[in-house]
Amino acid sequence: MKNVRVRFAPSPTGIPHIGNIRTALFAWIFAKKNNGKFILRIEDTDQNRYDANSELAIIESLKWLGLEWDEGPETGGNYGPYRQSERKSIYIKVAEKLIESGKAYYDDTTPEQLKELRESQREKKLPPRYDGRGRYRTKEEIKNSRDMGLPITVRLKVPDTGKISFIDTIRGKIEVDAREIDDFVILKSDNMPTYHLAHVVDDHLMRISHVIRAEEWISSTPRHILIHQALNYNLPEYIHVPLILGSDKSKLSKRHGATSVLDYKKQGFINDALFNFLSLLGWSPGDDKEILSKNEIISEFQLNKINSSSAIFDLNKLEWMNGVYIRGYTNEKIINEVIPILESEEESIGLAKTIKRPLDKRYLSKIIPLIKERIRTLNEVTELIDFFYEENIKNTAENIILKKMNSKDSIKILNKSIDIFNTTKSFNSETLETNFRNLVQVEEIKPGQLFTSLRYALSGKKIAPPLFETMEVLGKDKCVERVSAAITLLT
Ligand code: GLU
Repeated sequence: MKNVRVRFAPSPTGIPHIGNIRTALFAWIFAKKNNGKFILRIEDTDQNRYDANSELAIIESLKWLGLEWDEGPETGGNYGPYRQSERKSIYIKVAEKLIESGKAYYDDTTPEQLKELRESQREKKLPPRYDGRGRYRTKEEIKNSRDMGLPITVRLKVPDTGKISFIDTIRGKIEVDAREIDDFVILKSDNMPTYHLAHVVDDHLMRISHVIRAEEWISSTPRHILIHQALNYNLPEYIHVPLILGSDKSKLSKRHGATSVLDYKKQGFINDALFNFLSLLGWSPGDDKEILSKNEIISEFQLNKINSSSAIFDLNKLEWMNGVYIRGYTNEKIINEVIPILESEEESIGLAKTIKRPLDKRYLSKIIPLIKERIRTLNEVTELIDFFYEENIKNTAENIILKKMNSKDSIKILNKSIDIFNTTKSFNSETLETNFRNLVQVEEIKPGQLFTSLRYALSGKKIAPPLFETMEVLGKDKCVERVSAAITLLT
């Protein structure tokens, strides 16, 4: 496809929802697939709701997922500015042009009059809609109202008859009666454009070929078509992507887990995994393959394979996928990802304050292979490996005592374990395992009896990395020290 130009046009009014970012991701993939351009346009005409943090969060989310844009506010480009608040004069000129050509008009109906109109329609059980009274206002009347300081808007003159139709790539032809649409506002009384006007003008001037956006805009699209027609603009292709629902099929909300991309980042998810996961929300390459690299996704992606039905957000699947990605990473890469987590504040997700930072990378590189296969998110690492760093391991006698054995016999076996630590020359996992299995046999006990006790003694945990590898990494002195401390709990 030639000259593909797609845009992501967020309104920075809140924390970007995962659904918004998934829409951006589809647009980005489509641009990459067609050697096209991906444009970021900030739709900030609603200055009352503008939130600078929201804009920062949008930008950080896009960057984290690798959805870099070719044109945008700071990046620049041939069709800027890319921030709608800096394009006000363009919209005003377009609105004036529409008035001159008789396609739009000034309206001085006051908010009170509009309220009265709505109330009378409600009484008559009619749908609330503007009745087009402004079409008949003369220039003088508008001037008088303006002089009196009354609010003046600009409304599009919507045809009274006929049909408005457009093709949605995913859903096919969509058609509505012009009668159902009232003369809607395109320029507000503060001279700010409505979303309807601003985005149509921008999509045209920025040469957008495909409008990829959320399904919620389908019902407004006929209005957008009307604006395009009134301005003699060519229509872009429309692709309305499905909603994302929670596992119970209700709107995705906090109770289904995080709803913002950055929260997933904070929770220890990996950007490549989230990219893969989001790409499959509402799209599939047509087979059962789920682990797909960015390049595979780009090469397989087709707009018409996007589903028209809602996508279900399955957190378990995301966790599984994240685990797969972690296992696919080199140890070096995992280490680089987990160091900032481990070194962060204890109150958030870091290791205890008492543990010296910066952490020794070499030591960590011995630990990571032991847990790599077990984790689903990077944040799980701290809890799994903190005992490698801590000085004192918290334990209870109940955990240390060998099952089905009394304290005295348990102490005896644990002392023999210390002997093994002291006498094992090559202190590596294989030799240690051989020696401990030998002890189990000689003492005629079950492996589980001893190994559970030792696992608690060394790590303080029921679930910990493989025992003998753990011993090797901890080293002789720490093993002796920890088992000795455990014995004191039994005496
Ligand atoms: N600013 C609109 C939004 O954030 C953009 C809709 C569109 O892509 O046209 O939902």
